[in-house]
This record gives sequence, C-alpha cells and structure tokens, in this order.
Amino acid sequence: MRQSQLFTKTRREAPSDEVAKSAQLLVRGGFIHKEMAGVYDYLPLGLRVLKNIMQVIREEVNKIGGQEILMTTLQDKEVWEKSGRWDESVVDIWFKTKLANGTELGVANTHEEPLTALLREHISSHKDLPKYIYQFQNKFRNELRAKSGIMRTREFIMKDMYSFSRNEEEFKEFYEKSAEAYGEIFKRLGIGAQTYRTLAAGGSFTSGLTDEFQTICDAGEDTIYIDEEKKLAVNKEVYTDDVLKEHGLKKENMKEARAVEVGNIFPLGSKYSEALGLLYKDEDGSSKPVIMGSYGIGPGRVMGTIVETLADDKGIIWPEEIAPFLLHLVALKEGAGDELYEELVNVGVETLYDDRTVNAGEKFADSDLIGIPYRAIVGGKNREEGKIEVVKRSTGETEFKSKEELIALCGRTTIRRSS
Ligand code: ATP
Ligand code: MG
Repeated sequence: MRQSQLFTKTRREAPSDEVAKSAQLLVRGGFIHKEMAGVYDYLPLGLRVLKNIMQVIREEVNKIGGQEILMTTLQDKEVWEKSGRWDESVVDIWFKTKLANGTELGVANTHEEPLTALLREHISSHKDLPKYIYQFQNKFRNELRAKSGIMRTREFIMKDMYSFSRNEEEFKEFYEKSAEAYGEIFKRLGIGAQTYRTLAAGGSFTSGLTDEFQTICDAGEDTIYIDEEKKLAVNKEVYTDDVLKEHGLKKENMKEARAVEVGNIFPLGSKYSEALGLLYKDEDGSSKPVIMGSYGIGPGRVMGTIVETLADDKGIIWPEEIAPFLLHLVALKEGAGDELYEELVNVGVETLYDDRTVNAGEKFADSDLIGIPYRAIVGGKNREEGKIEVVKRSTGETEFKSKEELIALCGRTTIRRSS
C-alpha cells in the first residue's frame, strides 16, 4: 500500500482524552478512532493487525478441533430467563433493546444460552459428542469503567468457544488441550514470555477454580502472584494458603505483578445444558446433560496489551506475526522506491510504501510510531553499492541487504495471512 493513498494521518500529540499508553499510540498512529468512551473504530492499519490476531487464534483453535460459526447480536430473552441470567441483578452489564411491538431483546454479551439452545437440534446421542464450536463475534457490555482504550470497551469482538462433552473426564481433556493452545496463541502473538496461566475464581458457574491468561502489564486491572519456575500464577482474588497448597505452590516463590486478563477458560459443568435441556442419550440408553466449558479471548484487548507491553518511547513495535505490514519502504527522494515497491508487491512482500513528499525526519518518526518490523530506506545518503539499508524496528539494528536478502527476510509470512 502506498502511504500517500492511506486516508489516515498520524499525529504528533497524544490525544488528551486517553490515559492508556496503548490508546495514545494507536490513536496517534491512525490505527483506531474513538467514537466515545469505550467505543472504537478500527482503521486500515488497525484492522490489518486485528485480522492478523484473529487469524493466529483461528489457526490454533482449528488445530484442536474448533468449528467456526457466527451467531447473532440480537438475542431471544426466553433462553436467558431459563438460565436465570436475564435479570440485571445477576448480569449487571446488559444492553437490552426492544422490537417495535415492545418485545424485549438482549444485545449479546456472551453466547452460552443461545448456543446451548441451538445445539438441541443437532446433539441427541453420545455419538454426537464431543463438539467444539467457536466464533469471532461482537459483544456489548455496559462496563462501568472504560478508560483503558481498546483493552476494556463497551463493544468488542470476542473469540468465544464452547465445548460440549459427554462427561467430566472428556471435558477435562479438552480443557487442558485448550490451555496448551492458548499458550501457543500468546507465544505467536509475541506476549508468550509475559503471559501466565493464572488460577482465578469461578464466578457463578462453578464451585472450583477457573483459569485466566494474564499478561504482565502496568495498565492491567488485576494483581497476580507468579511462580516463575512453574510458569503459573494465582489471581489475588483466590490467593489463599489453601489454594497455594492445593497446587504445590509456596508463598516465598511467588512474585506480585500487575496484569491484564487476555483470555480465560471456564468449566461450566451442566448449568446451561440442564437449564436449556441439552441432553444426550448415553451408550446405556440413559439421558444425560452435556458437560460444557467456555473459552474466551478478546483480540482487541490483546492488541492493546501488545502495544502496552512491547512499545518503546518512539512508538509501537509489532511482532512479525501480526504486524499490519512486514516491511516499511521509506523513500527519501521522490520516486526512489517506485521500482522496488512494484517488485516487492509482485513477490508478495506486504509492504507499506512511504512515497509521501514530506521530510526524512517526519518519515522516520512516523515509521517508528507505526512500528512495522523492518524498514528499508532508499534514496538517502547512507549507501552501499547494490544494497538496501534495512533497519529492524525492535532493536534499531541496521544492515545493508541485497534485494534478494530483503525478500527472503520479509517474504516468508505471506503464507499464513488470510487478509
Ligand atoms: P474482565 O474480568 O476483564 O471483565 P471477563 O472475565 O468478564 O473480563 P470474559 O467474559 O470471560 O471476560 O471474556 C473473555 C475475554 O474477552 C476476556 O478474557 C478478555 O480478553 C475479553 N474481554 C472481556 N471484556 C472485555 C471488554 N470489556 N473489552 C475488551 N475485551 C474484553
Ligand atoms: Mg475476568
């Protein structure tokens, strides 16, 4: 893409209404636009990152047997009444709406109820189980506080997956598989080293614990205690002697940290299957409720967390897997990069080409801000015969590379992208 054609503009000054570093950088770089508190649009660069994050999640979830669907935002009140979650004293973040005739509808904040009801038409026998179903779908939550940019919003895309198993044993097997898949996802998203599986409270679904995936981050809202060696953490809300003992953890090994929940996995037992009548016939002919689990990740929150965690004082640093482009081609003289740009595009290197007529200082500052992993500079004073100056954004390292070397460096990720 030619930067001169990009409709978004970068800005020098941080917006005065954003406190989170990630929100400031993402607005300055033209990745997102704030409609109002807790409500954001994704602009071309931001949408590319968001789609790449979703694609990484999709690939890993497909590997463990996930089947993708897309459910509606408008929801039937009846299924929520059956589970007891229509009531605002039970779920306090509801947005609700009405048909012209006065019929009340829910605006999706999660999908356990409608999906469980839907599956009554498809699951009746033990032969139909287990099944793993997921979607990327817009959730609406009337969050009390929405001050962390895209990390906590009132409208956001969630990857929500639900598992349907015959019994606790079969459920648990998938639950552990999903935890491994989550580990792989956060590794590929560039925050694996800072993200911990974390024991947390079960809420209203389960008497046992659940697992969150928490990324160390000053802007996070949670406090966790980490056992670095075991790569396991405990959320402050369940940080008791009993919990530590049960999981073989010792207080003296635990280090306190601020963190943000980027994902979670949740045993649901038979709460929804019983409430909504999702039963199956077992081998012995008896009728049993399906055992469920739910598995969430917020791609927007993950994007904000990556910026919080990896940015430096000059701007954003995108991990290669999710960067909006892999290469930022910066021409310091008009037209100096035209030929190279065409060639790169032809061999499939995802390139943002800064062909604007602005000065070098401005181009470099914008390039640092936008955070594309590699920058190739052409038409400048720094020259080596037949070579291109290439700067790595994360380290600032400069190398002179032949065109072939540049293509080898930046051509490889094109295989995985869907966008
Ligand atoms: P939190 O404890 O942060 O309020 P939650 O426990 O309610 O989140 P879930 O309902 O389990 O979250 O949602 C699954 C995932 O969706 C979370 O792990 C998070 O990544 C993301 N998510 C939840 N709420 C928001 C929000 N308001 N804005 C952006 N992402 C969110
Ligand atoms: Mg939570």
